[in-house]
Amino acid sequence: MAALAGRVAAVREEMARAADAAGRNAEEISLCAVCKGQDAGLIRQSALLRVDCFGENRSQEMAQHMAAGAYRDKPCHFIGHLQTNKVRFVVGEVRLIHSVDSQRLLNAIQKEAARKGVLQDILIQINIGEEASKTGAPREALWPLIDLAMGLPALRLCGLMAIPPAFDNSPISRGYFAQMRGLFDEVRERLGKGQPFDTLSMGMSDSYFAAILEGATLIRVGRGIFGERA
Ligand SMILES: *Cc1c(COP(=O)(O)O)cnc(C)c1O
Repeated sequence: MAALAGRVAAVREEMARAADAAGRNAEEISLCAVCKGQDAGLIRQSALLRVDCFGENRSQEMAQHMAAGAYRDKPCHFIGHLQTNKVRFVVGEVRLIHSVDSQRLLNAIQKEAARKGVLQDILIQINIGEEASKTGAPREALWPLIDLAMGLPALRLCGLMAIPPAFDNSPISRGYFAQMRGLFDEVRERLGKGQPFDTLSMGMSDSYFAAILEGATLIRVGRGIFGERA
């Protein structure tokens, strides 16, 4: 527990330093603890610390963590690649789905949310590095996805997410985060006030400093909190 508490405190300090350097308020940045591969007991301990929410990559592992009460009363987010045949295990179970990257997935989430009578918050994931191997929508698909999402009544479009090609705080990494911030601002402007479009999910253990400098409102940290994965 002491090691875990020390790592969370260190991440919080670094978040505050980054926010300071960017002239931002650290309170407006959420810390999402990424639980993939972690033991439910350890996650449960971390829930007593200053983490705001938990991020899961796989619906099956998420179900196990949930059954064990691993998150206590904190919200869970789905951050991994979501297949349409897994949508029913995720919709209505999580506060926010970060990884929506196709019209097909938007329609599947709408259908399931309507069936369950829930309003599902989502982010659109952009493949900002245009990597063939990566999930996320290509940039040119952004506007059609936004237009579709805005017309689906069981969804609330809350922002954007990205996993850039560089995983560090280098200028290259920062450049990708800056591009995401540009897209985020464009969408926010076009949607106008009164929309819940306020989340920019970017930055991981080795890159969150740069992400915060460029405007991340939520960072997803795994190893930085739980240590190296087994
Ligand atoms: C694993 C993962 C993270 C966290 O990665 P770390 O390097 O352990 O901080 C963040 N986002 C997504 C989508 C992930 O799959």
